[in-house]
Amino acid sequence: MNLNLDSTIASRYNSPSQKIRVLTEKWVNEYIFCPNCGNSIAEYENNRPVADFYCSNCKEEYELKSKKGNIGKKIVDGAYSTMIDRLNSDSNPNFFFLNYDQNTLNIINFLVIPKHFFIPEIIEKRNPLSPTSKRAGWIGCNILLDTIPNSGKIFYIKDGQEESKEKILDIWNKTIFLKQATDLRSKGWLIDTLKCIDKLNKNIFTISDIYKFETYLKSKHPKNNNIQAKIRQQLQILRDKGYLEFKGNGIYKLT
Ligand SMILES: [Zn+2]
Repeated sequence: MNLNLDSTIASRYNSPSQKIRVLTEKWVNEYIFCPNCGNSIAEYENNRPVADFYCSNCKEEYELKSKKGNIGKKIVDGAYSTMIDRLNSDSNPNFFFLNYDQNTLNIINFLVIPKHFFIPEIIEKRNPLSPTSKRAGWIGCNILLDTIPNSGKIFYIKDGQEESKEKILDIWNKTIFLKQATDLRSKGWLIDTLKCIDKLNKNIFTISDIYKFETYLKSKHPKNNNIQAKIRQQLQILRDKGYLEFKGNGIYKLT
């Protein structure tokens, strides 16, 4: 994989944003495979409103965003209302994110966020554009990277290092069960549980490790009056889906 964007192909474009669009799309087309099935992906010919790439084998769709400099905690995306509509109708594409060095045009990070990790909580509403701007009143959104569990940020390239295809497909597969959780609330509970497990930062943990997040989870789900039972239920789902193993005596292990 060549980790440098070939700038010669965009010499006929004047606008910097158009230039980078052309460079990054060409690079993705050349090097990135579908994380769901491993097939190569293709670019949509016209400027589709929703997605930029698709897999002809498994039909997954991908939107590409890029950012220069540091990866940061937020990714600027399009209109807030469109994003929320997409989440509610389950029609959002998966999300490719490319991060590059502005001077060298080297790719520093490339990751995919599976669409099943998109819940309203990871979307931040931006302030409306000022009355003096061209699109006065328009409201955009940010994707909050740090609210997404680690298993929902699948890196192809991390800090300039490539990950193996096998590992990428494996991580994708591990959380594919989230697709079945079609209502946003049950998906939200599973994603919150994944985040608590991330925060422990260990492969083997106990039920009491997770109970320590009871106050945090209660603040997010104030209507639930039995958080511990809910936690046990989520861990059971994660066990049934192969994300965890039960070792007995309240001990859990990541698979
Ligand atoms: Zn595919």
